[in-house]
Amino acid sequence: MKNGVLFQYFEWNLPADSQLWDQLARDARHLAGIGVTAVWIPPAYKGSGINDVGYGVYDLYDFGEFDQKGCVATKYGTRAQLEKAIAALHDNGIQVILDTVLNHRMNGDSPERFMAQPVAADNRMANTGEPREIEAYTSFTFPGRGDTYSPFKWHWYHFSGVDYDNLTGDTDIFRILGDGKGWSQGVDKENGNYDFLMGNDVDVNNPEVADHLIGWSNWVTDTFGFDGFRMDAVKHIDNVFTRRFLEETRRHAGKDLYAVSEYWSDDLAVLTAFIDTLGGSTDLFDVPLHFNFHQAGETGEAYDMSHILDNTLTAADPLHSVTFVDNHDSQQGSSLSSDVQDWFKPLAYSLILLMKEGYPVIFYGDYYSLTHTDPANEGENDEEETVREASPHRRILDILLHARRTYAYGDQTLLLDHPSTIGLIRHGDAEHPGSGLVLLMSNGADGTKQLSLGEAQAGRTWKEITGSIPEKLTLDDAGCGTFSVKGRNLAVWVMDPDSD
Ligand code: CA
Repeated sequence: MKNGVLFQYFEWNLPADSQLWDQLARDARHLAGIGVTAVWIPPAYKGSGINDVGYGVYDLYDFGEFDQKGCVATKYGTRAQLEKAIAALHDNGIQVILDTVLNHRMNGDSPERFMAQPVAADNRMANTGEPREIEAYTSFTFPGRGDTYSPFKWHWYHFSGVDYDNLTGDTDIFRILGDGKGWSQGVDKENGNYDFLMGNDVDVNNPEVADHLIGWSNWVTDTFGFDGFRMDAVKHIDNVFTRRFLEETRRHAGKDLYAVSEYWSDDLAVLTAFIDTLGGSTDLFDVPLHFNFHQAGETGEAYDMSHILDNTLTAADPLHSVTFVDNHDSQQGSSLSSDVQDWFKPLAYSLILLMKEGYPVIFYGDYYSLTHTDPANEGENDEEETVREASPHRRILDILLHARRTYAYGDQTLLLDHPSTIGLIRHGDAEHPGSGLVLLMSNGADGTKQLSLGEAQAGRTWKEITGSIPEKLTLDDAGCGTFSVKGRNLAVWVMDPDSD
């Protein structure tokens, strides 16, 4: 899709008021208007309770329809509300991408006893004691749903590991023992073997489990008409299974469902190896680029901006790169907290929205708001006081989104030739009259670049559209001019239509 934009429509601390689907339905037309072509929705099925962000999966078949775990609706609403939101998005030409959590299950219905091997947390290939019988909540019978949509019930032998023993209270990591059981091989090598992340680790190498999960994906695609998947935690799931899951779901759907996977690593070689193993069947979030943004924000003027794309997926494999600035995990206080400083966010977004490479994501917390717990009140009373602040970035994001859909076309010249002032030229194309732009940004002092845009631009006037530089610029007879940017800011220059 030409100049597509993916919108991550949630952040970690949204209120658990079951209103998000209604809000999203009301917002569909506006989202289409600002150039959003796909919305990534949070895990939309029942988690461990009403406050669950969605990653503590209890029942993949309960999209806010059954009275389970103390609620019918999820944190975001009911199934009926979700279906209205999907319809509103589709009516506005926007794809719906479902956050898909297959790695683990939480909050089982009853305990079971089975044999398990305790292993070391930092090396799951190393045993730390004798195998023994343990007890854990591995039985998922879904009393609130029964057999509706699927009769499948989960038991201990459908999982490969747990992290507690009810009998002793131990919180070690336990590898579940049984015929042919063991950690998956096609997972990240951190901690010896990173199959286990949390909760009850789903054993995708169990044929019943694999068939069940693929049956589920076919059901959700048929039932809700999702256009693709955001695959959660793939570094903890056997890559052979993830590949099969996507292949079989696409075959069943008869269309090329979109997929982007979360492989949280800043090691470019690990990311490209994963894409190869999956035969190119999924995009990946460019985690290394996020960490470059994080580092640039922390370092300030001393960061060498000419290296901003170094070791990124965007540079190495742009067709598989999904570019983002922050997300629900990297935001302040979350599990992978590495948020990009506010002063740098406009610069980071200008790069991902205006460069040719990558499929950019707008994060809800950056466009709308983040909910902040007021630290002044922590521990002083039981009522958690939250303050919802409007995002300071929405104004610049609206301008950059406008620039993306109006001007960001054609060939590109990267201007990564200075430690502070960098940017790029988009040369425009015939399909989009008046397109083409110059993006400059500086993490230090005011900067300029002497650029030659070609003789076709001789005498043309250019203007800056973020409002940082009021003076227009007229190019000389050779199409050359000196473009400028303010310090710790960005500038987006486009042709002034009034100069024709
Ligand atoms: Ca796993």
